[in-house]
This record gives sequence, C-alpha cells and structure tokens, in this order.
Amino acid sequence: MADENPTPPTAKIIDGTAIAARVRASVARRTAILKTEFDLTPTLAVVLVGDDPASQIYVGMKTKRAAEVGMKARDIDMSASAAQGQVIEVVEQLNADKDVHAILVQLPLPPQIKAEEVIDILDPAKDVDGLHIINTGLLTSGRVGVVPATPLGCLALIKSVTQDLEGLDAVVVGRSNLVGKPIAQLLLREHCSVTTVHSRTRNLDEICRRADILVAAVGRPEMVRGDWIKPGAIVIDVGINRLEPQGADEKGRLVGDVNFAEAAQVAGAITPVPKGVGPMTIACLLQNTLALACRNAGVPMPKDPEAA
Ligand code: NDP
Repeated sequence: MADENPTPPTAKIIDGTAIAARVRASVARRTAILKTEFDLTPTLAVVLVGDDPASQIYVGMKTKRAAEVGMKARDIDMSASAAQGQVIEVVEQLNADKDVHAILVQLPLPPQIKAEEVIDILDPAKDVDGLHIINTGLLTSGRVGVVPATPLGCLALIKSVTQDLEGLDAVVVGRSNLVGKPIAQLLLREHCSVTTVHSRTRNLDEICRRADILVAAVGRPEMVRGDWIKPGAIVIDVGINRLEPQGADEKGRLVGDVNFAEAAQVAGAITPVPKGVGPMTIACLLQNTLALACRNAGVPMPKDPEAA
C-alpha cells in the first residue's frame, strides 16, 4: 500500500508536463508560420499493428497532440494478424506519399512481423523515431539525423537543471535501440563520460552510485534504489510500469524504474512518473515531425517568434 505520509522530497522535481507544454506551444507557433508562409501542414502517419492496449493509448495521445499543434495525423490501424508483406506495403506507400512528412511505426509489433525489416524499409528522411540505421549511424558519428524522441526529451529535462554537462559522469541503465543507446550517444555528444549498463552488468549499484546523471530505462518497477544514487545527482526515470491493482477499483499504480520516494531524498533533481519523461516524448516527437516537414518540403525551419 502507498505510504500516506511520505517524507517530502528534498530533490527538485523536474516538471515534465510544464516543460513539454512549452515545447508544444513553440511547435504550434512555428507550425502556424509554416501554414501561413508556405501553405505547408506537417503530417505524421502512425502505423499501429494489432490491439495492444498500451500502444493504442500512446497512439491516441500522439495523434491528439499532433492535432492540437495544428499538424495532420494519419492513423493507419492494421489487424493483429497482418502479414509482414502487408505492413511493408503500407510503409512503402507512406514513403512514396508526398503529403506525409513523418512516419512512426508503433512498437512492439506482433510476433509474426520482423520489426527490423520494417524499420529498414522506412525512408530515413521520414523516420520520425530515428530508428533507421542511417539515423542511428548519423547520431553515433555526431552528425545531423533524426534523434529518437524519448532521448531528446531526456536531454531537455537534464538541461532544465543544468546547461553545462561537460565532464559529468553519466550512467545509462538500459541499452535498447529506442532509448538507452541514443541517450548514451546524446550525453557523449554533450561531453559527459558515459557508462551504459544492462542486464549482464556486474555491481550495477556501485556503478550507478558514481553517476552525476543517472538515466534509468529498464522496464523494471522501482529497481533503482535510493542508496544507488550519488547525493545531488540528476535522475531521469524513463520507465513506465503498472503495478498490480491493490483494490477492486484501482487500475494499478504507475511507477518508474526508480524508487521515487527513496531517490527523491538523495538526488539533486529527479523526474516523477508519470509527468516526467512521458509528456516530453510526445512533445519531442512533434518537434521531430516539424523538422522533417521542413526538410522534406525544402523550406527553412521557422523561428519561434516568442523564443528568447
Ligand atoms: P527494453 O526492454 O527494450 O530494454 C530494457 C533494457 O534494460 C535492456 O537493455 C536490458 O538489458 C536492461 N535491463 C533489463 N533488466 C535489467 C536489470 N535487471 N538490470 C539492468 N538492466 C536491465 O526497454 P525500452 O528501452 O524500450 O524501455 C525501457 C523502459 O522505458 C520501459 O519501462 C518502457 O515502458 C519505458 N519507455 C518510456 C517511454 C516514455 O516516453 N517515458 C518511451 C519508451 C520507453 P539487456 O539489453 O541486457 O537485455
């Protein structure tokens, strides 16, 4: 049962909801300029295969937010039994469609679909999640490509605490292509000394304790404990885990990969779950869509009239 009188956190709580709202507002202003000056409406196509409830919620939220900032969102819902060839055909049609600027294939895909093959045939110039090997290669070699939205969001949240990351020790727990690896690359680009740890790492807690910046992207509820955290560290919790329902009327509490109550007593700043990384992922996805629309239509990215 949740503690009804938890000790108040001493860490700064990084407000992902507020920061994401500012990013979306900026995207909306720049989208409006694109429409007025170039008659261009950025269009995001989202391919959802199957009926995974979590994926349906994410896709619904993405298309809702896209509409709110003045973009077009095109939902392509495919049956859970869709064949590999059918999914490939849909992606190829979207690749060829000049009115579609950005394509997102919602993961995970059903077991009969080989995700790698689908990602490989995505047009890298429309690959809004930055998963195509051209984009991962560009990121790794420090060049300009498409960076996945969650890592971009994490970096923005870290920079809301401190702009100067040079020389800091960063530890990323998790090495997925979508989250862990690109976050590590972004932090390396910021001149952090980066260690990536994973399920085979020995002495995980000891390594985490060295981190000035600790990013947890594991998918294990509250795995990172308070005594794994260096006092004053910036802690970014990417995990979204739903606990078992406690009572008849409860859906089950959402928690991250970090034990928030413990960590918030030690860290200098920490993201909550929910209202931390989640909203930033969608805001950065829209930012990526805007950038791809400009690039694919050959027009300059509008400046935000309200930017400092
Ligand atoms: P993956 O399952 O693809 O990767 C998990 C990583 O964690 C793997 O590298 C795995 O290691 C590592 N890992 C698993 N168990 C342990 C362990 N006991 N100790 C150390 N490392 C471990 O997950 P994702 O990267 O896609 O997602 C991670 C979490 O982030 C999930 O909770 C997901 O729901 C959430 N998420 C949140 C988003 C948001 O917007 N907030 C967006 C995307 C994801 P190994 O490689 O060795 O197997």
